[in-house]
Amino acid sequence: MTATTPRPLAELPKAHLHVHLEGAMRPSTLFELCARQGDPVPTIATSYSDFAAFQKLYVTARGAIRYEDDLVRLVGEVVQDAATDGALWIEPAIHLAGHRPLGPEIAVLELLLEAGRQASAATGVGVGWLIATDRTLSPELALEQAILATRYTGDGVVSFGLANDEAAAAPEAFAPAFARAREAGLISAPHAGEHGGPDSVRGALDALGADRVQHGVRSIEDSALVARLADEQVCLDVCPTSNVSLSVVPGFDAHPLPLLLDAGVACSINADDPLLFGVGLLDEYTVCRQQFGLDDTALAACARASVHHSGAPADLKARALGGIDDWLRS
Ligand SMILES: [Zn+2]
Repeated sequence: MTATTPRPLAELPKAHLHVHLEGAMRPSTLFELCARQGDPVPTIATSYSDFAAFQKLYVTARGAIRYEDDLVRLVGEVVQDAATDGALWIEPAIHLAGHRPLGPEIAVLELLLEAGRQASAATGVGVGWLIATDRTLSPELALEQAILATRYTGDGVVSFGLANDEAAAAPEAFAPAFARAREAGLISAPHAGEHGGPDSVRGALDALGADRVQHGVRSIEDSALVARLADEQVCLDVCPTSNVSLSVVPGFDAHPLPLLLDAGVACSINADDPLLFGVGLLDEYTVCRQQFGLDDTALAACARASVHHSGAPADLKARALGGIDDWLRS
């Protein structure tokens, strides 16, 4: 195959490691749920004046889920979309406390786990859950969520995260929750280095034992930190369009992904919130090809990082990594 006929990115096996469940709702589903309830149909922007404006639409999407069936439908559609984009594994993030109107957190989690199993059986895409705690809430609540998550280690929950506005709380206070999660074998995957600078990434590494950092792109501001990420093979779960939409970087031409890859940092490519930014996982791979000029070897390396650093079982990882090699040979 020549450079003028790039390989189809949908056929590149990949894992989606940084995607928030409600933020991955299909626009048509959001409109339908809002119409059913007689709620005003929201306007979906794809760029936001600030994090609060983005958060408002996210909360609207979450609030549109009123019944258990809505949540089951959402999981099914998100996993189906992952299959369409060529993912063999997806790790949707869920903040369980956000769905208290549906029932106790443990009941919501069990509903999600079962919905994930059904979606996986229907599509062949493996599903592992990332339980995300909200950094604007208390570290005590985070610890409770970690304890709940660890009850399902090996039974559908694979990772533990920390989400919401990085300006609101530094990572350090959440160390006990992450220690508990890590002891139980969960992957530590907090957000850092998005609105927070390199210190937030260092905090995620030192206090939370991050195996992966969701975003982490502002690490580029500190060369020693970049070298450390490469040395310790911490994976950054990068979402280029999200970073542009939320003005983390002024534009794609200023995005640090190519520099991070050149420095040897493992990076996965992700969509973060397809509903809110207008792009899915496959689109983001296309963005990386078109905006950054990443060649197929570099794109395959990102796909390999996504699989390697995922919570997928060993046999799925081996199949996906073999498929990536086959894709490059095709
Ligand atoms: Zn995120």
